Amino acid sequence: MTRRNRSEDGVFVAGCPTSINDTYPLATAASGTQLGDRKPGNKVNEIYEITREARLYSLKELARRAGASADFFRSWRIEFDRDATTIYVNPGTAKRIRIRNAPSKFWRELSAGTFRTTRASWFYPPLEPISTLIPNFIIPFSCESQNASPPLFGTVEHECVESAFDILVPTLLSLSRWEETREGQRDEHGRFTASMSVASRDRFLKQPIVDEYGLALEQALTYLLPAWRPAERKLRVKVSHDIDVIGIPFNARSTIGHTLRRHKPLATARDLLGGLVGLNPTFLETVRQVVQPCIERDLDSAVYWKASPPGPKDSGYDPRHPKVRRIISWLREHGAENGVHPGYRTFLEPDRLRQEMQALQEVLGEWPLGGRQHYLRWRPDTWLHWEACGLAYDSSVGYHDLVGFRAGTCFPYRPWLLTLNREANLIEIPLVAMEQALWRHMHLTPEQSLEALSDCVTRCRLVGGVFTFLWHNIHLLDPIYGDFYEQVLDTLVGAEKFEWKAPAANFY
Ligand SMILES: [Zn+2]
Repeated sequence: MTRRNRSEDGVFVAGCPTSINDTYPLATAASGTQLGDRKPGNKVNEIYEITREARLYSLKELARRAGASADFFRSWRIEFDRDATTIYVNPGTAKRIRIRNAPSKFWRELSAGTFRTTRASWFYPPLEPISTLIPNFIIPFSCESQNASPPLFGTVEHECVESAFDILVPTLLSLSRWEETREGQRDEHGRFTASMSVASRDRFLKQPIVDEYGLALEQALTYLLPAWRPAERKLRVKVSHDIDVIGIPFNARSTIGHTLRRHKPLATARDLLGGLVGLNPTFLETVRQVVQPCIERDLDSAVYWKASPPGPKDSGYDPRHPKVRRIISWLREHGAENGVHPGYRTFLEPDRLRQEMQALQEVLGEWPLGGRQHYLRWRPDTWLHWEACGLAYDSSVGYHDLVGFRAGTCFPYRPWLLTLNREANLIEIPLVAMEQALWRHMHLTPEQSLEALSDCVTRCRLVGGVFTFLWHNIHLLDPIYGDFYEQVLDTLVGAEKFEWKAPAANFY
C-alpha cells in the first residue's frame, strides 16, 4: 500500500511513511457517501464520491501503467481539493497534471445506474501500431457526455496538463469490479457473466482500457519532462491449468467417454487396465502432457489443484493420493508451479475455502500459493476471502464465456477493496482467455480462435501486460481442437514469465 504524508490540508507526498487513518471527506453532498465507507458484504450501489485514498490508489495504478518507477511516483506532490486532483511531477517546479473531479450530478447518475461510456483522443498522435489499435480511449463510468472526443490529457498552459475526464474514477471502478458489487442478474452458478457487463454492452471487452490510459499518462509525463523515459513494455505470459478431473476416483462415464467422445480407445484401456501395471489414469497423465509443451518452449506453466470433497460440480479427488503426489513432485522438478483451485462450494464460503487451502498447503508443502476459483465462481468479496487465507494471488478475474479484459487490464495488480477502502494484500493476475470460452461459448473455429487469442496477445504486448491463458488438462484429449494448444504456445515463444514471487518492484 502506498503511504502518504499530509504536509498541509489535502496535500500529500506519495510514499512518505505516515499513518493513513485520518480521513479527509470529499463528499460534496451533505448526505453523500464515499465509496469505501461500507462494511464487507454490503452492496455499494449508492456512491457520491470516491475517497482520497482511492484516488491516490488509482493514480498509482495509472503511474505503473505509464512506466513510472516507484521512486519517480514517490517524488510526486499530490493535492486533492474539491475541484481537482493536481499532481506536481517535478518537485520545486510548477509542472503539473490536473485531473478535474467529476461533478456531483455524475455521482447521482452513477448511483441510479446510469453508466455512460465516452471516448477521448490522444494528446498527440502515437506511433504505429498503437495509433491503429488504439485510435482513442474508451472511458466507461464517464462524467463527460459530449459527442466530440477531447484529449484525455491536453495542455492548458506551458507547465500544466489537464484532463477534463475524472480518469481516476473509471480506473478505480474497473479495477475494483465495482459493477459486480451491485445487485442484479447472475447466472445459475452465481456468476456475473460477460454479457452482464458494461464492457460487453459498449463493446470494449477486447481492450485493456485502463492500461491504455497508462499510455496517455505516459504522453503527459513526457510532455512535461522530456528527459524522462518510461520503463520498457514487455509481453509476459502465464499459462495455467485447472485440474478438475484426474480419473481418481474411477468414473465409468468419463472412461467410456475417452472412446465415444474423444475417440481415444487406448485412453479407455489405460483407465481400465493401466492400474494393474502402475500406470496413471488417463486424465492424471494429461497433467504432465499439458505442462510438457510449456517446458519445451520455456513458458511459465502453473497447475492448480483441488482438495474439495465430492459433489455435483466437484470430482472429489484426493490430492494426497500417492499418484498425485508423484505428479506434483515431477512438476516441481521441472520448474512448473503448483497452486490451488478452490472447489465449487468455496464460493462465498470462507470457512470451506480455508479448509481446502489447509489441505493443499499440507500436500504442496509450500506457502504462499496462488490459483483460481473453480467454475470462475468469483465476486469482489472473494478477494477478501483469499486474503484472509493468506493466498498470494488470484487469477479468476476473467469471463468463462468471452475472452478479453474483465477488469480493463492485463497488468497484475493489488485490487482495491471498496468495502474496506484499502488495497488488498494479494495480487490479481487477470485471466485473459480460457479455451472453453472460444469454442463452447463464442463458437469459434480453431482458425478464428487463434486470431482472437493473437489479438489479445498483441494488446497485452502493446501495454506491457501479462497474457494469462487457461487450458484444462482434460481438454488436451478433445479432438475438436487437435494440435491447437501447441499452436497457441508456439505463438508465445520468447515471452517472459511473470515472477509473482520476485520482490515487488512492480508494486509500489
Ligand atoms: Zn475448475
